[in-house]
Amino acid sequence: MSSESDDVAILANLAKLHRELKRLQAKERDHVQAYESAKTQVKRAREELAALGKAKEDDTLKSREIERELARVGQEFAKLNTASESARTQALLVAATREMETKKEQRNKLESDGLGILDHLDALNAQIQRAQAKLPELAAQEELSKQRLEQCRAEVGAARERVETERQRERERLAIETKVAYDGLVDDFGDDGLIIASDGVCNGCDTMISATIGALLKRLTKPIRCPNCRRFIYAAQ
Ligand SMILES: [Zn+2]
Repeated sequence: MSSESDDVAILANLAKLHRELKRLQAKERDHVQAYESAKTQVKRAREELAALGKAKEDDTLKSREIERELARVGQEFAKLNTASESARTQALLVAATREMETKKEQRNKLESDGLGILDHLDALNAQIQRAQAKLPELAAQEELSKQRLEQCRAEVGAARERVETERQRERERLAIETKVAYDGLVDDFGDDGLIIASDGVCNGCDTMISATIGALLKRLTKPIRCPNCRRFIYAAQ
């Protein structure tokens, strides 16, 4: 049968073990985050490349359309030219010449549009090259952070097993009443059921601890619970 002052020492050990479990969890979480962010970067780079590829396709289609239009306008111009050479009246000649002017303007406009699209295509190709050059580095970063996460998981898994075994051993040493209270706190608060009270404040719920409890905490002869959140509290060392 263990005494209450034994329970105080055991709970302090248990608090230490819970802190260790939290630290291991945080370590794993950091690695998960790093891997997730590396994955996101690769995904974004791939999406960017896909969008650039689509823009390039659109430009290429537009460029072909303009070429077809130019050919059509060229044929119409040639026809008008023939018509003007064989124009029988001055009026027909004037009309044909006017239409030829219009065709020339259309051709100029199409050529200028075509050049604009070619410039845009050049810029797109440069962007695609840059995005493609970035990709292997990002993929390598993703692979590296995946390996690091796997390594961390193996380490954390082994450490967690060790800490958990120790925690069960310590828990078994508690007096039955304390053990029941402890189990309830672990159910409710996970690794935060045992908490340090520093400067007269419970770090679990940020409530001021009464002076009496504060004094009791310092003597540590009996496990004490926060009157507000019911966590086991103990004085900062
Ligand atoms: Zn509290």
